[in-house]
Amino acid sequence: MPAQTHLFLCLKDNYGVLLHDPASGATAAIDAPEAAPIETALKTTGWPLSDILVTHHHADHTGGIAELKQRHGCRVVAPHAEAARIPLVDATVREHDEVRVGSLRGRVLETPGHTAGHISYFFPADKLAFVGDTLFSIGCGRVIEGTAEMMWQSLLKLRALPDDTRIYCGHEYTPALKARETEVEKLLAAGQPTIPSIMHAEKAANPFLRADLPQVATSVGLAGSPAWKVFAEIRERKNRS
Ligand SMILES: [Zn+2]
Repeated sequence: MPAQTHLFLCLKDNYGVLLHDPASGATAAIDAPEAAPIETALKTTGWPLSDILVTHHHADHTGGIAELKQRHGCRVVAPHAEAARIPLVDATVREHDEVRVGSLRGRVLETPGHTAGHISYFFPADKLAFVGDTLFSIGCGRVIEGTAEMMWQSLLKLRALPDDTRIYCGHEYTPALKARETEVEKLLAAGQPTIPSIMHAEKAANPFLRADLPQVATSVGLAGSPAWKVFAEIRERKNRS
């Protein structure tokens, strides 16, 4: 049975998403920005919370864990390298580890850069990727703990996923969200969220996934430079804009 997802907004500009296995009833929250909207989403769907799959340690991805775990007794799965900074972890995972949500089988991809131990979850049968703060729709996360080269390698790893992969990210690109807040709410209400985005569309439009194209290198004055340097320059320009 195909997986089902339910998307909703949390905090200021975070996305929350539930991943549901209709065969077993198991339901995972991908990250837990805050408990209340997740509780509302569980009530709306009637799905029981069995797992929280954490992408990285930032508070806007983990702030709801303690409350949800207390209420639901759910399992908390977290990146091995960041487990010490995440509350109430039950299982830690690394590259290639399998994560099960009921009968759904996901694979862990280590995607460091935004944080040093950031991971993403890919469910191949349903072609669903939960990428946290690594890749955004027409954007990417800020390189905070890692290096630009590390982040570029993480983006390449995600870019190698099938073209029809649906990508669930942790945030809407902020300026776009502000301009589109009402529209996003309306789309969500109408069941037409702006995410997931589809990998082939990201490949075509996301400048951060195009840093290895010669014309992109030339456009930022870095013709002939390694792709990660071009990526670093584009990312740096976004920080300044
Ligand atoms: Zn973050």
